[in-house]
Amino acid sequence: MSDNVLGQITEEVERSIAPVYQHIEQISLLNHQKVLDSFHEARVSEYHLKGSTGYGYGDAGREAVEKVFASVFRTEAALVRGQIASGTHAIALCLFGVLRPGDGLLSITGRPYDTLEEVIGIRGSAHGSLRELGVSFKQVNLLADGSFDIEGIKQCIGEKTRMVMIQRSRGYDWRSAIDIAKIEEVCQIIKSIKEGAVVFVDNCYGEFVEEREPIEAGADLSAGSLIKNMGGGIAPTGGYVVGHASLVDMAANRLTAPGIGGRVGATLEFNRWFLQGIFLAPHVVSEALKGAVFAAALFEKLGYQVSPGFSDKRSDIIQGIRFGSAEEMVAFCRGLQKGSPLDGHITPEPAPMPGYDDQVVMAGGTFVAGSTIELSADGPLREPFAIYMQGGLSKEYIKLGVMSAAKECISVNKEKQIFGRI
Ligand SMILES: *Cc1c(COP(=O)(O)O)cnc(C)c1O
Repeated sequence: MSDNVLGQITEEVERSIAPVYQHIEQISLLNHQKVLDSFHEARVSEYHLKGSTGYGYGDAGREAVEKVFASVFRTEAALVRGQIASGTHAIALCLFGVLRPGDGLLSITGRPYDTLEEVIGIRGSAHGSLRELGVSFKQVNLLADGSFDIEGIKQCIGEKTRMVMIQRSRGYDWRSAIDIAKIEEVCQIIKSIKEGAVVFVDNCYGEFVEEREPIEAGADLSAGSLIKNMGGGIAPTGGYVVGHASLVDMAANRLTAPGIGGRVGATLEFNRWFLQGIFLAPHVVSEALKGAVFAAALFEKLGYQVSPGFSDKRSDIIQGIRFGSAEEMVAFCRGLQKGSPLDGHITPEPAPMPGYDDQVVMAGGTFVAGSTIELSADGPLREPFAIYMQGGLSKEYIKLGVMSAAKECISVNKEKQIFGRI
């Protein structure tokens, strides 16, 4: 296919996605307003940008950061720390903080995210898993149409069920994200069966995609990573936990130690990065969404199966693209890598990853190592050979990366229908 033909297809794509962009901008404006109001409510001032050292007692900047997060998530409390190493760590704090021996954990979005399998103890033999501590686990799969299996949930919530876990984003599964309206509906059902159950939402990749967040929909506790949506591409590391004060306290006691909880923890240079990060996050998320929509429309036109479709409702920033083979997955990553600002000259190869069962191929040359709010793509080398692309700090950079990926895919698969069409 000549560059000219790809250029023509791209123009068609851009015309068809214009109304979707408009919708993304409307939500983005509401989220910008929400963040700005939260800064004002917390009376964020210049001195809050400075950090503490040592124990970090009385760190006003840290308190301002956590007030802003609590306010943005419309909840009582937040724990926002550079000492939280990743999204997995933030989620583990919620699980280990709240669950006690004899308690039951129920996932109602099926198989948990790969790295959580070892945390829960349903894969591998890592010491200190929930299972080793006597916490039992059950899962109810989503129905074929991606909705909750309400009957299954009703049957599985029992005497021991202390926490019900929802993964908002698709993760590495070929399914839609769970939108906030669905979370709201299922929260009501869970509470009607068992009022005291803690509803926990893994919010990774979902923040600022809709107008509302999980706590507003009835969840009790939620967590995510700062090198995804909430860090706005600025935060160099970290994670967050938000929700009811007593539950966030339990997570904080797990992060540091019972008794000192969230009242210690030096912030070094983090306060500035976290504040600037959340300030930019609504915009960065909207750019990432626009890039994902572009990729969906382009790859669909090229004959690939995509999820979500370009005009489908979204509740996370992930774009799934299905390939016929591992070879094409690697080709996509090779092309996307060429669109990265750093390591653009490197060729991605599949490799084993800690926390993951299958080999993983990934692309991304990011300013923050491993950041997935910057343009990146990855996927485990297993059926259905799907790549999950996400992030990008500007829609223009995403477009360049996606075009480069499309060229690589086209060159390894000359059989695509598109060639018959033109
Ligand atoms: C990324 C992610 C995690 C884990 O976060 P890490 O920062 O990679 O440890 C958990 N759940 C979901 C849905 C994710 O997307």
